[in-house]
Amino acid sequence: MNVSASKTTVAYFSMEIALDSAIPTYSGGLGVLAGDTLRSAADLALPLVGISLLHRNGYFVQHLDAGGNQSESPVQWNPEQVLEPVDATASVQIEGRTVHVRAWKYSVRGVTGHEIPVYLLDTQLPENDERDRRLTDSLYGGDSRYRLCQEIVLGMGGASLLRALDVHEGLYHLNEGHSALLTLCLLEWQLDGRQAFELDESDIEEVRRRTVFTTHTPVPAGHDRFPLEMVRQVLGEQHVTLLEAARCVDAGELNMTHVALRLARFVNGVAMKHREVSQGMFPNFPVDAITNGVHAMTWTSPAFQRLFDRRIPEWRTDNLYLRYAVGIPLAEIRAAHAEAKKTMIAMIAERTGVMLDPKAFTIGFARRATPYKRADLVFADPTRLAEIASSVGPIQIVFGGKAHPNDSGGKDLIRRIHAASASLAGSVSVVYVENYEMDVAARIVAGVDLWLNNPMKPLEASGTSGMKAALNGVPSLSVLDGWWIEGHVEGVTGWSIGGLDPEGDQSKDAMEIYLKLERVILPLYYGLPFAYAEVMRSAIALNGSFFNTQRMVEQYVRNAYFPETTLTLAEVGD
Ligand SMILES: *Cc1c(COP(=O)(O)O)cnc(C)c1O
Repeated sequence: MNVSASKTTVAYFSMEIALDSAIPTYSGGLGVLAGDTLRSAADLALPLVGISLLHRNGYFVQHLDAGGNQSESPVQWNPEQVLEPVDATASVQIEGRTVHVRAWKYSVRGVTGHEIPVYLLDTQLPENDERDRRLTDSLYGGDSRYRLCQEIVLGMGGASLLRALDVHEGLYHLNEGHSALLTLCLLEWQLDGRQAFELDESDIEEVRRRTVFTTHTPVPAGHDRFPLEMVRQVLGEQHVTLLEAARCVDAGELNMTHVALRLARFVNGVAMKHREVSQGMFPNFPVDAITNGVHAMTWTSPAFQRLFDRRIPEWRTDNLYLRYAVGIPLAEIRAAHAEAKKTMIAMIAERTGVMLDPKAFTIGFARRATPYKRADLVFADPTRLAEIASSVGPIQIVFGGKAHPNDSGGKDLIRRIHAASASLAGSVSVVYVENYEMDVAARIVAGVDLWLNNPMKPLEASGTSGMKAALNGVPSLSVLDGWWIEGHVEGVTGWSIGGLDPEGDQSKDAMEIYLKLERVILPLYYGLPFAYAEVMRSAIALNGSFFNTQRMVEQYVRNAYFPETTLTLAEVGD
């Protein structure tokens, strides 16, 4: 592998990247993972470049009325104020029109000062047709045709822009299938003027050599598919012919996951279990696993940052040192957590007017509001929950999460939580924090006493919010799906809900939550606070030290980017 000192070696493409709370270019877990990946890559001084879309409307601002009815408004933000315009432009063909693409640059700065440039693509240009100017405005907005146009801008516009900038040479990493059309550019460059029918296996091999694909969705419906008729109209006959020559087209449709699978040399799921599920979905392609992580410095609360700095100062540059949290006195863990809890309670008071009790056992549940995540499961039997709170000890629950504007099931969940909250008034305090985003997330994952996660199995590819909680000594109570299958040691790092079998009866999950709370977790919290703190400490030592993006990026380097060499990270970096 010939690594140039001036050019980046890995171009990381993602439909959403959470760069900063002030830059609303993400909707949830996928974007946060992308941002955390680039933050760790910057810490490791790796030669990466990021590509995404500008999303002028942001995702959206969530408003909730007293009944929990969600409404949305665009996020007001000024790219001009936080991003640097880039001189180079590129263009793509959409419905036969030339669409000009420009970019805005954001620099992700690592712990030692290394910078990773991220280019956010923008079609809001006077020379573009009115219809095309809004293509990069709305993340997951619009219809299927709008999405296809966006994916052309992201994949082909992004690859062309990198070429125009002349900053990149090497690999392309597709973070989810949205950017799979970048391979069309690679195929065209490979052909170098030859006709599509002249494409042969060695050309395909050359494209594959440069492409890495991470799949994130264990639900078939979660993979982008477009009717071939639409693709012909939008992308043009010539491009479809090339995709056909590369055998990337299925009967009557273009499936972005299939394009990526066919043209990537390395394909991975985001947890061991997710690899297994994905391998079942795509039996013809070998699927590896690299389990997700989170950026430790971003997700560790100020209180724990100070504690780690004092006890294990190396943790910032080498997250493995978090393993030595086992030696931190329990009283110090408790004190740091108490401070994080106070910070969260103050934020909630300011945002909702509700003053939570710092002494009461507090459960957190915050993530995208969508039916499979079952946010209201803990209210399956409100009477039972109220009884536990009155007989064992007080319970408070903090919720947060946006529903996609078209997700009526997700919106129903938020309404049902508000209704349950009203019916439990006086016995269990429940708050729903509006407009969940990174800053709010950071305070909630650190401030609660228990992180609850109960999706339908096997639909959680990985999940990352429980990893953020673990870094702050907050144990999880979670179904055995995604990352928790790997991170769970019963009574040591947290607790499980239900068994491993995804075919098992998941209707009993609520009963199991009540049972664990009543018999195990609450008695420990209220009766043996230092034993509870021992679980908190083990969550940091066992899970914080592993489920971070530093370890994850190192695995991408070793297993995905440069498996053929014995190149060390230092040689890869500049
Ligand atoms: C971490 C994070 C998520 C992902 O949460 P999961 O529980 O892993 O689904 C979503 N949204 C925001 C704002 C986050 O910070």
